[in-house]
Amino acid sequence: MKKVVKATSALLLSVLLLSACSNSGNGNAGPDTTAQPTAATTQAAPEPTAQASTSAAASMTPETVPSEAPSASSTPQSSADNGTDTSKTTVDNAAAEIPLLYHMNKNYDIIPNKDGISKKVVLLTFDDGPKNADMINPLMDTLDKHHAKAIFFVNGYRVKEHPELLKLIQTRGGIIGNHSWDHIVLKDKSYAEVKKQIEDVQDIVKKVTGETPQFFRPPHGAGGDVGKKIAAENGLLYMTWSVGSLDWEMKEKDTGKTAKLIKNVTDQLHSGSNILMHELPWTVEALDTLLTTLEGKGYSFVDPRSIELKMR
Ligand SMILES: [Zn+2]
Repeated sequence: MKKVVKATSALLLSVLLLSACSNSGNGNAGPDTTAQPTAATTQAAPEPTAQASTSAAASMTPETVPSEAPSASSTPQSSADNGTDTSKTTVDNAAAEIPLLYHMNKNYDIIPNKDGISKKVVLLTFDDGPKNADMINPLMDTLDKHHAKAIFFVNGYRVKEHPELLKLIQTRGGIIGNHSWDHIVLKDKSYAEVKKQIEDVQDIVKKVTGETPQFFRPPHGAGGDVGKKIAAENGLLYMTWSVGSLDWEMKEKDTGKTAKLIKNVTDQLHSGSNILMHELPWTVEALDTLLTTLEGKGYSFVDPRSIELKMR
């Protein structure tokens, strides 16, 4: 009997290993990877490159965050999520203890609130998920290895398809941000349409995770005045990015993607860099080397929960 069990276990193990390998292979070729790098994406994004980022961000400054942004938006996330009396669990208390040490400026960089707090930080962000547990898990493993937290800007239609993947991101310690429902360019759409694009994501994330997103990034970096207004009305901190990894321009067949991704980031790297990446297989593969490189240059990874939710 024992022999049979052993043989069966061995067989099961090899089947599992085989299927794990083939899954990651399929993940590489998935249709998702082509969603971001379309011609429209490149044209619509006002700040896809380092050179463009400063001027593009500057051109967006007049609107900034309207004064009608609810004052509650500057309170720590935990209290917003849990009300007043329910923050008794370990997880909630841990979140409540994270002090608000940083804020975001008009270039979408992360700035310390006072002297004595490290300026040399970067914010890690991953857009366009949740797509695939075979990417999310290794990505989280790498973040854990470097004691790093990141924002995952998710699309509502993907959450609807795979609520369990959103739950996975939350369970593994990811901070969930709102990236609109359909990943369309919002800036020319009506108030009602943009409101639905943003608020439907707030609703579904709340339903799945019990928590409401507090960060918003418009698809293609193009939210327009209407996107900024509605984000503020929902207490969301609006951001595009200040350093693009350009991972969205890469293709499966390209060689040297890890080196290219690291060069793209380090070429633009500065204190407070808000780094845009995506849930893409080559980004997952490059992440450990990227984070090691950044640490080697003296940077640490800002906890998104330590960022004030009002731009200044
Ligand atoms: Zn996107």
